[in-house]
Amino acid sequence: MMLYNNIKNAESQFHREPNSVQLLAVSKTQSSQKIREIWREGQCTFGENYLQEALIKISELKDTNIEWHFIGAIQNNKTRKIAENFSWVHTIEQEKTAQRLNDQRPENLPALNICIEINLDHEKTKSGIHLSNQYESNRLFWLVEKILTMPRLKLRGLMSIPELSENTDKQRAKFATLRCVLDQLNAQFNLSLDTLSIGMSQDYVAAIAEGATIVRIGTALFGEREV
Ligand SMILES: *Cc1c(COP(=O)(O)O)cnc(C)c1O
Repeated sequence: MMLYNNIKNAESQFHREPNSVQLLAVSKTQSSQKIREIWREGQCTFGENYLQEALIKISELKDTNIEWHFIGAIQNNKTRKIAENFSWVHTIEQEKTAQRLNDQRPENLPALNICIEINLDHEKTKSGIHLSNQYESNRLFWLVEKILTMPRLKLRGLMSIPELSENTDKQRAKFATLRCVLDQLNAQFNLSLDTLSIGMSQDYVAAIAEGATIVRIGTALFGEREV
């Protein structure tokens, strides 16, 4: 498939290790049948945004080895189903949500992989922890500290959905900021967080250039979503 080649080419163009970038297929609004087709071609990780929609597909695709990632906004009354049905959650920004997922993660499953969502833009409305002021930056360090005490969660790294910019350098600069924050966390807490979940259909090449390890792609894989 062309997308896989594009990812390979970007890895080599930007001197990334071969296979260091994983494609997360974002399957919101796509049918179970369509997901199954892509899974048969070898794609094993899928990302979903809406819990109710995801639970139906997860149940219809129980016979597959698909690894499910939750990448949507989390309401605290929905954490149990997320803890029971997903391997990864990319959108953590509050201690309370993390604590609930930790407490609700079933014993028979491995620890839930977690990314903290960072807001790299300045609009107040978007989700994620802002780094533009000291209070929020401190909140990030404090949240990391808390999550590290939660045995049923495994902190893996950072996720972001920056506003798209026409200018590739600007887009890269935002992604580079996130990579620096990850390095800072690793240094400060003596960790080896290995995940930067950045890059979507429009900007995944810039994200790969700046160290993405998971690119979350919907449209460029499935075609335009019907709304
Ligand atoms: C929809 C979505 C994507 C994929 O977007 P495309 O532009 O279709 O590739 C990635 N990440 C998140 C969080 C999304 O909601």
